[in-house]
Amino acid sequence: MTAQLIDGRHLARRLRARFRERVAALSARGVVPGLAVVLVGDNPASELYVANKVKACADCGVRSFMHRFHMDCRETELLDRIAALNVERGTHGILVQLPLPPQINARRVLESIVVDKDVDGFHLYNVGALVVGNSIFPPCTPYGVQLLLETTGIDVAGKNVVVVGASNIVGKPMALMLLQREATVTVCHVKTRDLAQHTIHADILVVAAGKPGLIKAEMVKEGAIVIDVGINRMADGRIVGDVDFEPVRERASWITPVPGGVGPMTVTMLIENTLRSAERFADGEAFHPPQPFWQVPAG
Ligand code: NAD
Repeated sequence: MTAQLIDGRHLARRLRARFRERVAALSARGVVPGLAVVLVGDNPASELYVANKVKACADCGVRSFMHRFHMDCRETELLDRIAALNVERGTHGILVQLPLPPQINARRVLESIVVDKDVDGFHLYNVGALVVGNSIFPPCTPYGVQLLLETTGIDVAGKNVVVVGASNIVGKPMALMLLQREATVTVCHVKTRDLAQHTIHADILVVAAGKPGLIKAEMVKEGAIVIDVGINRMADGRIVGDVDFEPVRERASWITPVPGGVGPMTVTMLIENTLRSAERFADGEAFHPPQPFWQVPAG
């Protein structure tokens, strides 16, 4: 069996064409969607990710506003800026590019973003909402994987899903989303003993470990769907995933390539969340008082 490719670029292009229609509809209602991007320091990888996000915004007609801070900036400077963005009417989404330098408490910064503009879905409210299955903004990478899985036409309900990787931004939310869709989910991580013993039972295998070549063909069930979230830059400059692509392709029924699989979808889902935020704004559903919800006085 040679797996069919799940083409993230193609799906991203189709979604973005629809986004442009939604932007036009919003504009007719007097709303231009806007995303604020907060970048601290000059980490080349972060610069690249941010440049991709800004480009995707421009491609869809979403305005983006860069907020750059020096590597040595104080946490209060960031918190003050986010407080201002929380109440700015032209800003519908606030994204803080991670990682942040060590003098800054990333959790505190993420919690300071008002829930209505948390388009990355990292605020504890959105994380908790994911657990009960009604988050406003699902985190972008697992959200993109979910749509990629839908393109195969296979219903995940009742399937054995194995997620390799348990980070807060990919593995854990991915597992929760698939559990919500009634899959039987196993989550593996760096301390999992005998990884292959788990992966071999997967009807759907989602890998997000950041380890090139981690998943070999003999670890994959014949006919499985394999989603490779990993992005690894090799010494020769090649970008590869976590899956040994060619041999695994001979066993799987569907597989995502790297690059061109999950990556384009992550950025696309950020735009989806920003548009959703702008639409909530236009419908009068969003923009409650800007305090974090636990500080809103009772009554
Ligand atoms: P992370 O380092 O925060 O987490 C990695 C997870 O993998 C951990 O839970 C760890 O326990 C597990 N792990 C590591 N080695 C393992 C092993 N040998 N066996 C089993 N589990 C192992 O990383 P992350 O932020 O979740 O990202 C994971 C990968 O996905 C990276 O390559 C990253 O670049 C990529 N990524 C891609 C996108 C995208 O849009 N395609 C988005 C986010 C992250």
